[in-house]
Amino acid sequence: MYNKPVPVPDADTEPFWSACRDGRLSVQCCSGCGAKRLPPERYCPKCHCAESEWQDVSGKGTVYSWIVVRHPVPGDVYGCEVPYVVALVELAEGVRMASNIIDCDPDAVTADMAVEAVFDAVTETVTLPKFRPV
Ligand SMILES: [Zn+2]
Repeated sequence: MYNKPVPVPDADTEPFWSACRDGRLSVQCCSGCGAKRLPPERYCPKCHCAESEWQDVSGKGTVYSWIVVRHPVPGDVYGCEVPYVVALVELAEGVRMASNIIDCDPDAVTADMAVEAVFDAVTETVTLPKFRPV
């Protein structure tokens, strides 16, 4: 039983979560200028176009930045998992996303470390994208 908060998909984010359930990473792509963005937004921040589509991406990327969470705080439902890594991953397609780095020693994470997406089905409806070293 997964006892941590889970994302609640809405009209703007459902395509992302649906792709994750299928084991794919997908990003919003502006129909006007082609800029990829994540998290999704109603309007393109570059050209203000309101039209967009979703495109699958490779799931490959590199660690752009990260922290290692080492100390739980009172009431922290993630406290049982310390130490764990929260990272900003730069996807090969140029989009950055926040996630966790798993399947490695947290102290082994380095800048520009090559990672790939993996998918953790935490509930019947929510699958979380995470990353592991390649
Ligand atoms: Zn645009």
